[in-house]
Amino acid sequence: MSAKRILICDPIHEDGVEMLRKAGFEVDMKLSATECELVKAVSRYDAIIVRSRTKVTAQILEAGKRLRVVARSGVGLDNIDLEAAERRGVEVVNSPEASSNAVAELALGMMLSLARKIAEADTSMKRGEWAKDWLTGIELRGTTLGIIGFGRIGRALAEKAANLGMRVLTLNRDVDKISRKLKRGDLEAVAFEELLSASDFVSLHVPLRPETKNLIGGEQLRAMKEGAYLINTSRGGVIDEEALKVALVNGKLAGVALDVYEPEPPADTSLTGLANVVCTPHIGASSWESQRANSIIVAEKLIRILS
Ligand code: NAD
Repeated sequence: MSAKRILICDPIHEDGVEMLRKAGFEVDMKLSATECELVKAVSRYDAIIVRSRTKVTAQILEAGKRLRVVARSGVGLDNIDLEAAERRGVEVVNSPEASSNAVAELALGMMLSLARKIAEADTSMKRGEWAKDWLTGIELRGTTLGIIGFGRIGRALAEKAANLGMRVLTLNRDVDKISRKLKRGDLEAVAFEELLSASDFVSLHVPLRPETKNLIGGEQLRAMKEGAYLINTSRGGVIDEEALKVALVNGKLAGVALDVYEPEPPADTSLTGLANVVCTPHIGASSWESQRANSIIVAEKLIRILS
């Protein structure tokens, strides 16, 4: 029987590629191919691997006569026509678990930056200033962190924050997910309003769905503690950015850290340009460790399905 064939359409870490070859698959690379080129090539493959660049369209799926799996190295599946895949009986897999620690560490770094004004101090030093007087910050130890979205990333952040001496709040709906790695008393499940009003830091880790669109709007921002901090590494649409600008300008919030925006990149700098905003260009999952883990996890999943 001839070896199963896999086509890699976007660059992935070489360790996953090596695993597939060792498992006996024939692996080809066609990086930066157009849709038309993929339609022509795909009929020879049992599986394709993509990241976010390649759009796996209905045309590609229809042309994949022996295609059994589409593997997305990473989290989102918005670049894959899931309906067409289901129609053709093609399985779709991804590796959301690979980047949880990377995102949790970025959220923690953002909290430290907000608390100790690291980004502001850096900008000020680069302007040639020595602004010790207005760069006094707060310590994380002893403060309260509210985590909205207690899945992989939310739980990873909760453990790190508890280790730093923070009190962690999550929502009542998450009581069954409370991590066993957290000591009793480190974590408390409360109602949404209480989480907002009792937290010094609120960090968002929910998926963007119709019910989480603008989850944090004017009303929720007003319900937050005076001078609290908000961190969003989930998806831009979870926060109403216009309401956020108001809360930052009128001093309701002391600061915000954002990795994600609506749209991306942001249309202008009216939010990212504010002094009390720490911002990064959607780099939550951009660590070498997470890229390697993504490639290994999709390789493991493909080996299991195709073997
Ligand atoms: P996950 O599925 O493990 O966890 C999401 C959690 O949110 C679940 O526990 C779910 O029950 C909860 N949830 C859903 N709707 C809710 C609501 N209305 N109120 C409260 N909780 C709700 O996902 P994850 O791996 O932890 O990732 C979370 C999000 O982070 C992803 O959906 C993605 O949008 C984002 N993300 C961003 C980056 C980045 O680069 N910044 C990277 C990876 C993931």
